[in-house]
Amino acid sequence: MSLPRAFITSVVGSWPRPNWLIDAFDKFESGQMDRRTFDQYLDDAVKLAIRDQEEAGLDVVTDGEQRRTSFVAFVGQKIKGFKIVKAEELNPNAREIMKRHKAPLTIWRPVVAGYIEDSVLAVDELRYAKQVSTKPIKVTLPSPYLVMWESWHAKISSPYYPRPEDAAEAYVKALRREIARLIESGAAFIQLDEPMLGDLVEAGGDEPDRYKRVASELYGQKYRGLRDEIQLAVDLVNEAVQGFGTSVRLGMHLDRWPTDESPVVGYERLAPHVFDIKVRQYVVEYKHPKMGNPEEFAKILPPDKEIGLGSIDVRDPKRVETVEEVVTHVERIVKYVDPTRIWLNPDCGFAPGMYRAFPRTVAIEKLRVMTKAAGKLREKYWWA
Ligand SMILES: [Zn+2]
Repeated sequence: MSLPRAFITSVVGSWPRPNWLIDAFDKFESGQMDRRTFDQYLDDAVKLAIRDQEEAGLDVVTDGEQRRTSFVAFVGQKIKGFKIVKAEELNPNAREIMKRHKAPLTIWRPVVAGYIEDSVLAVDELRYAKQVSTKPIKVTLPSPYLVMWESWHAKISSPYYPRPEDAAEAYVKALRREIARLIESGAAFIQLDEPMLGDLVEAGGDEPDRYKRVASELYGQKYRGLRDEIQLAVDLVNEAVQGFGTSVRLGMHLDRWPTDESPVVGYERLAPHVFDIKVRQYVVEYKHPKMGNPEEFAKILPPDKEIGLGSIDVRDPKRVETVEEVVTHVERIVKYVDPTRIWLNPDCGFAPGMYRAFPRTVAIEKLRVMTKAAGKLREKYWWA
């Protein structure tokens, strides 16, 4: 399947789940539905998510993460050594803590509760998606730095892994096996999701960002200081992708879901270290006004790297962008990055956690605007 030469379109990962899928999940969880029936619901939801994206004209599709409780919690369901629990089990005041720090982590939480073993994480999802679509498929995977912050618990995990870094190393080993399987099974794009690195945009030298504060209170972890946190993230990801770079397109997604109080600054704040990460594409949130100016990131993007530019908002379902608005947004970076290295995507997934409600019809409309904008850009920069 050949891709357009420039302004390729994709989603970040997750797609709004139909209400019937959420109902089925709740029934399955409470023992009122058997596995086989629930699997049929999941298959149907994936078919629908892919068809929505195909009809909107996307070049590269995902399975919409329909099988996952959240973009990170599903690690707890699929990899041996992890489990998932409700946030209240980690701390009875979990919801209050998230509210206080304005950092809503997903309600289902992964926890390291044993020795981490090689397990199928996403290759089963890819195989099914390939049965129902001929489009190139992107697979998203929770990045090791994210998984460390979101799953190592000071009491529950320390008998197996005394330090969070030890659990992260063990996860890296399992992740490498899965990346190899995904490549073998024909993934077009493997994206490591790293919001915990993205969140560091709001951190200070000794002051953790909102999400690390919540994770510290729920899991009992400690912030290492900004420089060391960035370095740890870079090292862990590089270890995970070492040697795979030429056989598949590797990317990393950065987001931070800003609040009204968040500073106006983008992922350029993590440079130059973030560019030491051995991935080809940075899929970055830049439509949100709190991200500042995408030119700041584009200007310093190394010439061998691509940008997946956040061009569509995923937070406000009441407003759909115009084609012209998206074209203008993307054109801000054309003077710095060759169109063949620019991809268009929404800022983030439309439903990173399964209970996040976002009307599917609006998500489809937004994608249509984005693919139309990409078409206009390809006409205008025909030489690319
Ligand atoms: Zn995101």
